[in-house]
Amino acid sequence: MRPVLRPWAAVLALLTAACSGPGPATTLAPAPGTAPTTTTGTAAVPAGRVAGAAASGLGDPYFPTLGNGGYDVDHYLIDLRVDPERSHLDGTTTITATATGDHTAFSLDFAGPDVAAVTVDGAPVEWWRDGAELWVGAPLVAGEAFSVAVGYAGVPSAFAAGSPGFPTGWRSNDEGTYVVAEPDGARTWFPANDHPTDKATFTFRITVPDGTTAVANGAPAGTETAGGLTTSVWEMAYPMSTYLATVVVAPLVRVEHPAAGDVVLGDYLPPAMADEVPEAFTRTGEMIEAFSAWFGPYPFDRYGHVVVSGLPAALETQTLTVFGDEWFSTPYAEFVVAHELAHQWFGDAVTPATWQDIWLNEGFATYGELLWVEHLYGPEARQAEAARRYDDLAATDHALTGDPGVERLFGTSVYQRGALTLHALRADVGDEAFFAILRSWVERHAGGTAATSDFVALAEEVSGRDLGALFDAWLYAAPLPPLPSP
Ligand SMILES: [Zn+2]
Repeated sequence: MRPVLRPWAAVLALLTAACSGPGPATTLAPAPGTAPTTTTGTAAVPAGRVAGAAASGLGDPYFPTLGNGGYDVDHYLIDLRVDPERSHLDGTTTITATATGDHTAFSLDFAGPDVAAVTVDGAPVEWWRDGAELWVGAPLVAGEAFSVAVGYAGVPSAFAAGSPGFPTGWRSNDEGTYVVAEPDGARTWFPANDHPTDKATFTFRITVPDGTTAVANGAPAGTETAGGLTTSVWEMAYPMSTYLATVVVAPLVRVEHPAAGDVVLGDYLPPAMADEVPEAFTRTGEMIEAFSAWFGPYPFDRYGHVVVSGLPAALETQTLTVFGDEWFSTPYAEFVVAHELAHQWFGDAVTPATWQDIWLNEGFATYGELLWVEHLYGPEARQAEAARRYDDLAATDHALTGDPGVERLFGTSVYQRGALTLHALRADVGDEAFFAILRSWVERHAGGTAATSDFVALAEEVSGRDLGALFDAWLYAAPLPPLPSP
């Protein structure tokens, strides 16, 4: 069966909920860090910081305690046994890192369950918890590599932070367990340097009971089955920010799609869905080809979706988007697919340097929806859709796109006004310069992070224009500028 694709005119106010979205809160827990609880691995260790310790935050303007100073993570090995019926995990995360300074102690972001042991380079060390920081009482020597392993077990709690509208992190329901962690939920399920700027490669080793399947970001790298348990290994060989890491454990069926060039395509679906693959997923290859022509080559070697229930959202988890099944009962599913796919370039390959720069994620992915309209129906349809969204936005109280604040981090401004900022830029500099800017953005920053000021500078460099007034008006001033015509 092929459901009718809604004509573009019906696709109004798409997806302020993509990558976030309203919905009933479940298993709410307070954001960590506000009420320190100190647990020590050894009785003699002081709570909180010690003299000479590395910084316990990176000073993000919206989440100043996220991330940690003193080291740069190279690789995470997340080795967990998961019991989805209890939402329980038990295992060890081993972080391989390089020290960036000389310190007496350092911290990891961790709001997960009970810690059993911490070792550095294989030797037990002192450790203590203070709110959402896990302190490690071992020295760092600038330039030297080290590994820190944390053993832990229990039932993680997702928490509501920022404004996604639902708890983020490790989530469970009757169908299984899954992770959607933007912006700061990664620390609910593994100890991390939990800020987008510290990208690393990942290995996931996930052991689950028979009848369920574990999937994660990247490429499958083998399975072993013994004693009613199956261990699946997944390798994310591209640098990835912590909030983009995911594991889903549920009954899942792999459905392959024809490759798009060299890009392997396939989805993981609930068994009841596998016999009738959602139409929206069958066009992913066509989307990759269309977006590659505009943005440059797809930045990874594979892509797909994993469908979960009970999630009123979708999240662009790198190479494997977590897709809430609620989208299939709306006319927007295909545009959600386009939105999350565009994020693979804008958000995943190139990641905002701070959470204040969130429009570099959401505005660009939302512009991807407009480009999909253009691909399907032509540039006039794209212009008409932009005008409809402009009218909706004009009637809505909305935050500053370039400084929305934590409370409206996922508000309509970063999505719709962010997309219209790109629409205005394209009208100003012309198609050739505009797409050259987007391609240069990815070429220059893929695998890393960049800030709004970097984008403005690049746009001026490529176009040869002074664009300060345009970006100031769209990103940093409350009045909505006039919508430019092409
Ligand atoms: Zn998004």
